[in-house]
Amino acid sequence: MNKQCFLKEKYKNLGLKLTPQRIAIFEFLEGNTSHPSAEEIFQHVSEKYPTMSFSTVYNTLEALRKNNQVMELTIDQSRKRYDPNTEHHHHLICTKCKKIRDIHKVFPLNLSAEERGDFIVTGNHVEFYGLCGECREEAFINTRG
Ligand SMILES: [Zn+2]
Ligand SMILES: [Zn+2]
Repeated sequence: MNKQCFLKEKYKNLGLKLTPQRIAIFEFLEGNTSHPSAEEIFQHVSEKYPTMSFSTVYNTLEALRKNNQVMELTIDQSRKRYDPNTEHHHHLICTKCKKIRDIHKVFPLNLSAEERGDFIVTGNHVEFYGLCGECREEAFINTRG
């Protein structure tokens, strides 16, 4: 089964409406680790479907989110980013170019009963910040002037 057929099956089984534009969005997201914003997804898919509207992207992302096929990330304060990897993981973000990298690591983050209070903890998410290699190199070149 090719990728398109696989994706069609997968999303049809979830009861999602399938259109060529939507399938192009699913295809772009599948296995994508760049944590794209809705704008980036729109830009990419509209190359193939120039008549597609931004609201199609937005509505598709909403449908995916409701079906737990995509996570909405708010670590980049300038725009929401989307992550098709819905398994529990953490993130490392470049404070300069906003590149987000996945961190698959289990941290011992147990809260004491006192810290938890009346909460039942259902998850956690750790954000690391730093400068990526490219941005570090750029900073180095600039300081050498
Ligand atoms: Zn960077
Ligand atoms: Zn991620």
